[in-house]
Amino acid sequence: MPKVKGWLGFHLKMHKISLELFQAFVDALNDHLIGLNNGDVKKINESLRVFGRKMAETLLIEYAEKIKEHAGEFEELKDTLSIAYKVFTGSSMTKVWYDPEEKAIYYEDANCPFCKDVNLSENLKGLQYCLFVGGVFQEVARLRGFGEAICEEIGCKTWGNDKCVYKLRLVE
Ligand SMILES: [Zn+2]
Repeated sequence: MPKVKGWLGFHLKMHKISLELFQAFVDALNDHLIGLNNGDVKKINESLRVFGRKMAETLLIEYAEKIKEHAGEFEELKDTLSIAYKVFTGSSMTKVWYDPEEKAIYYEDANCPFCKDVNLSENLKGLQYCLFVGGVFQEVARLRGFGEAICEEIGCKTWGNDKCVYKLRLVE
C-alpha cells in the first residue's frame, strides 16, 4: 500500500526520543492532573484528551498538507493510526479493526507502554491513563477532514484489564 508507505517513510525520519523519558512524563502528567483535580476522574480524563489534541496539532501542523494527500475513507484511518502508534511508541497494537455497524475504529494494546506497571487505586478507577493517545487520534481524524470525532478508552490496564482498548468514532 503506497499510501501507508508514504506515511511510514516520512515519520521514520523523525528524531527519536527515549520511551522511558516519555513514560516518566506521562506518569508525572497523570500524577499532576490527579492532584490538580482532587482525583475527579472525569476532569482528569478531559485534560488528558485536550493534551493529546494539542499534541496532534504540533505533530501534524507541518505535515497537514502531505497527510491530506493520503485521506481516504474513515475506516482506512485504522491503518494509518496503527502505523503511527508503532512508529511513535515502538509498541504494536495487539488488534485493530473497524466495526461497520457502529462506524467505529477499535484498537487494543495488551502491552500499552504507558500503563504497564501502573495500578490505580480504587477511587481512581475509570481514569483513562493513556487517553492522550486517543486525543491525538481524534484530532488526527478531524485534521484529516473526516469531521468531529471522539476517542474513548473503554478498557485500561490500569483498571486491571489485560489490555487498553480504544474506540474512535465520528460524531454525527
Ligand atoms: Zn494504556
